Amino acid sequence: MKLIILIVVVLAVIVWLQRLKKSLGGDRSTSGGSTFAKGTAASESPQAEAMVACAHCGMHFPASEALADASGAVFCSAEHRRLHSS
Ligand SMILES: [Zn+2]
Repeated sequence: MKLIILIVVVLAVIVWLQRLKKSLGGDRSTSGGSTFAKGTAASESPQAEAMVACAHCGMHFPASEALADASGAVFCSAEHRRLHSS
């Protein structure tokens, strides 16, 4: 019976710590002014980043690494942006 009480107490502490972490982390995540971050600001995990496809080779990569040209197409590298426009 003591073991059950101990488990309940441990679970309560874990839940309390997670709530504390969430409330503290909420203030930090508002920093950063990237134009690509605007659409994904609501996502909870920083690893769940939006993926885009290169207009030249079709490779998928994180939106934060994307290079866009004047027409709005995105590329994986400056080299592919140059090859696509020529
Ligand atoms: Zn590419």
